[in-house]
Amino acid sequence: MIIWGSGGGGADLGQVEIRECPTCEKERSFKIFLRYKYAHVYYLRWVTEKKYHLACDVCLRGVELDSNEVEAKLEENPIPFMTRFGWTFLVGLIAIGFIAANLGKQ
Ligand SMILES: [Zn+2]
Repeated sequence: MIIWGSGGGGADLGQVEIRECPTCEKERSFKIFLRYKYAHVYYLRWVTEKKYHLACDVCLRGVELDSNEVEAKLEENPIPFMTRFGWTFLVGLIAIGFIAANLGKQ
């Protein structure tokens, strides 16, 4: 039985600036928010989608940001390690299984 599914997460990356919000029509603090989705098989995860937004702290409306540009400025990636790199373990397991199967034939 294969246990699989998907999930998502998010992170508030902090306040970046005060600016006029066109929705609230007031000065608001704008924050960078990250939302991401992942798929998983057992506990192995990989990110399927991620989006950064610069959004009003009150109404949460804002603009989508270029993820490469945002990540260049981040000190650490807000997505947990296993969510980002879980799939590499899966690839490793398949490779080991493949090698083991071939060795068994000789
Ligand atoms: Zn607003």
